[in-house]
Amino acid sequence: MAIILDGKALAKKCKETVKKEAESLKRTPGLAVIIVGNNPASRVYVNSKRKDCEECGFLSEEYALPEETTEAELIALIHELNAREDIDGILCQLPLPKGINEEAVLMAIDPEKDVDGFHPMNMGALLIGKDGFLPCTPYGVMEILDEYGIDPKGKQCVVVGRSNIVGKPMAILLLQRHGTVTICHSRTPNLAEICRTADILVAAVGKVNIVTADMIKPGAVVIDVAMNHNDAGKLCGDVDYEAAKEVASAITPVPGGVGPMTRAMLMKNTLLSARKRQD
Ligand code: NAP
Repeated sequence: MAIILDGKALAKKCKETVKKEAESLKRTPGLAVIIVGNNPASRVYVNSKRKDCEECGFLSEEYALPEETTEAELIALIHELNAREDIDGILCQLPLPKGINEEAVLMAIDPEKDVDGFHPMNMGALLIGKDGFLPCTPYGVMEILDEYGIDPKGKQCVVVGRSNIVGKPMAILLLQRHGTVTICHSRTPNLAEICRTADILVAAVGKVNIVTADMIKPGAVVIDVAMNHNDAGKLCGDVDYEAAKEVASAITPVPGGVGPMTRAMLMKNTLLSARKRQD
């Protein structure tokens, strides 16, 4: 029976530390969150970010823009926020409505305020091992591994999924910590076989039960990043959790695993930004 990697408890602890550290700064850290349109999932995420800011004692500003907002209007707002002294982090909730080029919007955010870590400058810094903001989800996964004393060094790591915000940066972080990393994706023919080689298996696909227990090496650490809904409408990950926890040595639950840590890392990045700007 696997150890349950409790991301919810760890996130609480991280946010308490962030709050304490924020109190020692000369100025309250500030996060601006932009949401465009009426995507209900985005609304939920933005609300939880506001709540996290409250918990950490941060200034939080929300810009809820209508669906018809143009790319130029959105970028003009970002430029304004880039220039504000009291704003340390700017986050534009994705996805954006059709007609707005997401890449152009992300590029407009000052890399020094890009607390989501999606700007090419921060992505590039990650790739070459320089300082920058780490994307919150893979950053949160690394914090979970560290908390539970799971060292990727010398381990066979398999990341399923290669998105820019999760899979790719996840693989780079594991590589930096001396894991031997394999990345799988939709064109990988022998997924099960590769997964079975993993000492650390990270699933970041977005398909219910794509990782079944027979794809897990006995004793492996399983990190389930995904947030799916099963046929009953219940939140679940990519991994067949009940069966997998009998095979794995440690596993993240969904909910209560990676999700809360992603949110906590956004707060940590905002604190880091505020501290850098103060120094
Ligand atoms: P994404 O951009 O849709 O990427 C999914 C990846 O899975 C792609 O690289 C895709 O391969 C790969 N894939 C699709 N079908 C596959 C298959 N049959 N076998 C192997 N690989 C397959 O998604 P994302 O943004 O990375 O998110 C992944 C999941 O994590 C989603 O469930 C999302 O909701 C969740 N998520 C959770 C958090 C959190 O805080 N917990 C944060 C972000 C995302 P191709 O590249 O070949 O298409």
